[in-house]
Amino acid sequence: MVLLVVFAYALLLWQVTDLVRHRVQQEMLASGERQLNIYVNNLQAQLEKYEFLPELLSTNAPLVELLKRPGDKQRIETLNRYLETINTITNASDTYLMDNEGLTIAASNWQSEKPFVGRNFSYRPYFKQAMQGQLGRYYALGSTSGRRGYYFAYPVRHEGGILGTVVIKIDLTILEQQWQGRDTEVIVTDPEGVIFITTRPGWRYRSLSPLSLEERQRIRESRRYSGASVEPLDVTYREQFSESAQRIDISGQKRRSSESYMILAQSMPEAGWLVHLLKPMKEIKQEVLHAIGASSFAFTVLLLIGLVMSQRYRRNLERAHYEAEVNQSLREARDRLEQRVQERTVDLHQEIEERRRTQEALQETRDELIQAAKLAMLGQMSASISHEVNQPLAAIRTYTDNARLLLEQERCADVSWNLEQISELIETMTQISSQLKLFARKTDGSRRPVSMHNVIESSKRILHPQLRKSSTEIEFKLAKVDPLVMADPVRLEQVLVNLIANAMNAMEDQQNRWVSIEMARQGEDLKIDILDNGPGIPADHLERIFDPFFTTKESGLGLGLSISHHIIESMGGTLSAQNSQKAGAMFTLRLPLAEHVVDSDGT
Ligand code: ADP
Repeated sequence: MVLLVVFAYALLLWQVTDLVRHRVQQEMLASGERQLNIYVNNLQAQLEKYEFLPELLSTNAPLVELLKRPGDKQRIETLNRYLETINTITNASDTYLMDNEGLTIAASNWQSEKPFVGRNFSYRPYFKQAMQGQLGRYYALGSTSGRRGYYFAYPVRHEGGILGTVVIKIDLTILEQQWQGRDTEVIVTDPEGVIFITTRPGWRYRSLSPLSLEERQRIRESRRYSGASVEPLDVTYREQFSESAQRIDISGQKRRSSESYMILAQSMPEAGWLVHLLKPMKEIKQEVLHAIGASSFAFTVLLLIGLVMSQRYRRNLERAHYEAEVNQSLREARDRLEQRVQERTVDLHQEIEERRRTQEALQETRDELIQAAKLAMLGQMSASISHEVNQPLAAIRTYTDNARLLLEQERCADVSWNLEQISELIETMTQISSQLKLFARKTDGSRRPVSMHNVIESSKRILHPQLRKSSTEIEFKLAKVDPLVMADPVRLEQVLVNLIANAMNAMEDQQNRWVSIEMARQGEDLKIDILDNGPGIPADHLERIFDPFFTTKESGLGLGLSISHHIIESMGGTLSAQNSQKAGAMFTLRLPLAEHVVDSDGT
């Protein structure tokens, strides 16, 4: 990662440096060319201003006159004054007239310390050119004045011949001063490559490239630069930017102090000059350094942002991963739970189904048992029943026999009485049989408000033959107001019949027998106590008498109490047993009072 960042940074720096250098170079090149053009035009304009002046002067008659008669002092002075005026007006450096030998015969500086008058400049190329009938042009360091100047010379003609030359010298140092003080350097070189105009005084009369011995000789002979020795500058050419632009290093006097420039050149063919513009390369270096600084800053900022973003991204990724894991485990847990719930639901359904079937089977068994218990009881009761039935039957037979005899004797009234007795006895038997039918009947077990008095009365009727046979007293302590209990009357009767029958069984061996039924309200229930004066229930039997098949009787089934217990519970009541304080056993029934059930039902 670190290596990658370093590599990216290095690549960025390389690219930025390359781009900026290229861009700044292009800008420098373009601006340099523009600037150079301006300098060249400036120089050109300066020269052009004077170019035609000698030709104009050459046509001036006084010049011709003087050249024809060179010794005329009067004319010389007049011309000197004239040339001085012209020189002042044109702002030239010097204006002078030379004869055909190169001797100066009149000059604008005739009154100065070092006047040209009387001096011979025939060695100057411009003189030679003019004498050949051309416009002479030359640049040189003045031999008399010691000042650099540009010379324009033109022949003074008369009648087809050349009498002399008129010369105008221009001072170009003013331009040099004007160009100084900028960040660029300007130099003008002559055809030999010698710098004679420069914004850097130290480079004056130096050459851009080393000169050959002949070139040096020629320069010396021309006396162009007086006696100055032309030494080459220490220039190293580095690279070529374009056709006219290069990079050069110029070493200074001190070693190691070298300056790098972009050098552009443009020629001035008429003057035979090359004008150069030198732009320091440190501009590029500075721009590159700025760009490196800016891009390093941007890179650092981007790197930091990238780091922060990547950290945030990594954190988000981790969080998403964690959430995905949590979700996955939650999903798995939920799936497992769902599966377990499904399995459990299936199990429960099976269990419920099982239970329902067991319940049904149990219900059937219970119904069958109840029926069996009733039949068993009927069996127990059969002796007294048969007695109860046989008695009226025997009586009916006796009454029938009596009636037949009385009929033979035609004692119709007595017959009728006998028949009445028979009818009453049949009624009694019908009642017995209907009671038995009532006892044996089946029921759907649904509850409704039932009068407790009625239930006790019908139980008593069912047991009537047995009670009579065993001469048992049943004492009913009834409440003043007939209490209504929520019960299935048939089953409640069966319970009471069973409890009373059990009491009678227990008291079989006694002389004095009684059963007492007491009722009392207790809260929302009716409490019914059935007491007897039998031997009671032994303590160790008390816990077991409600168990199915628990019996102490030889022919007992042991189901009566267990079924009774179940019947009372199914009606929302309770059945319990204990020994009474007076004597015998006491069974206590509790049943919900109908009024409360109705109240609580809100119906
Ligand atoms: P079974 O009458 O066929 O024996 P029960 O369930 O009706 O079956 O009675 C179970 C036993 O409870 C009886 O055998 C008897 O020993 C005892 N028992 C029931 N009622 C009384 C009572 N009033 N006095 C004394 N013992 C009783």
